[in-house]
Amino acid sequence: MAPILIGDLEDSRRLAELAAQSDVLTFDWENISASLLVPLEKLTVIRPPAAALDVSQDRLREKALFARLRIPVAAHAAVDSKDQLLRAIRKLGLPGVLKTRRSGYDGKGQFVMREARHIEEAWARLGTQGLIYEKFQNFSKEVSIVGARSVKGQTVFYPLSANTHDGGILRYSVAPFADLELERAARTYLKRLMNALAYVGVLTIEFFVVGGRLIANEMAPRVHNSGHWTIEGCVTSQFANHLRAICDLPLGSTRPLGHAAMINFLGEMPDRERLLDVEGLAFHDYGKEPRPGRKLGHCTILRSSKKDRDQALVDALKLIDRP
Ligand code: AMP
Repeated sequence: MAPILIGDLEDSRRLAELAAQSDVLTFDWENISASLLVPLEKLTVIRPPAAALDVSQDRLREKALFARLRIPVAAHAAVDSKDQLLRAIRKLGLPGVLKTRRSGYDGKGQFVMREARHIEEAWARLGTQGLIYEKFQNFSKEVSIVGARSVKGQTVFYPLSANTHDGGILRYSVAPFADLELERAARTYLKRLMNALAYVGVLTIEFFVVGGRLIANEMAPRVHNSGHWTIEGCVTSQFANHLRAICDLPLGSTRPLGHAAMINFLGEMPDRERLLDVEGLAFHDYGKEPRPGRKLGHCTILRSSKKDRDQALVDALKLIDRP
């Protein structure tokens, strides 16, 4: 068994100790400091590469990389002053979303501006940091693709997930989202990104579907919440494939075993006994302290038809929302 070291994530000496004792280092949280990981690359192998984490932590650089790889993104502009914000709004129009370039997740650090009267409030809330202004996307769906790349460059891709958010936080995902054309495009973009980053491990891209086309929103250099359904829903889960990839082992099949729905438990845990009455439901409790909006666990339902899956999703959502 690997030794366990407990320490502060910003403690570079402790991190160096960890690296020196490890054959390979990985991470499942994207807000660790990429600059602290870079020196560790001299001590051990870091997979995925620190450079992938680094670019994913800055929405502006991330979008520049997507654009360079011909992965479509929303029209956007860098904003470092109120003047630049006004100029961006004049150029791109309203509505739009003002976001912090760094440290934003689950809808945190962003402000949807629908009318000119929102500008002052958005600037007052976010104006102290480097920002990006994005044109608002009138999407019909949000989807994500999760894939893995091995040390030898083998790639595998899971079926597209369709994701429903509530206040910027993922509420539930269903998969496979069987739109073959979108899936083909998503795979092409993800593979391009993986190869450009010499990526090893699991990588995710989240997209908006606008007018039948994919617009990339962001990447996540880790196993992803929208891929949790793969634990019960695919031959090999995203977690198993991440470990295979970073350990230089062959990747496992991503074949789906049915139609899956994954529902997050947000803020409070639902009644376990009632939920377990739903046939075949898999219940995951992360054992975290409840806090409004916090992801405390999830459940997954698997059915042999899309229709049955959709009905089971409605039933389970009712039990979670009105226990
Ligand atoms: P993000 O933190 O970028 O993943 O954004 C969280 C959620 O906010 C997304 O999943 C969307 O539902 C919404 N959102 C973010 N950016 C935009 C945009 N440019 N247009 C419309 N909705 C957006």
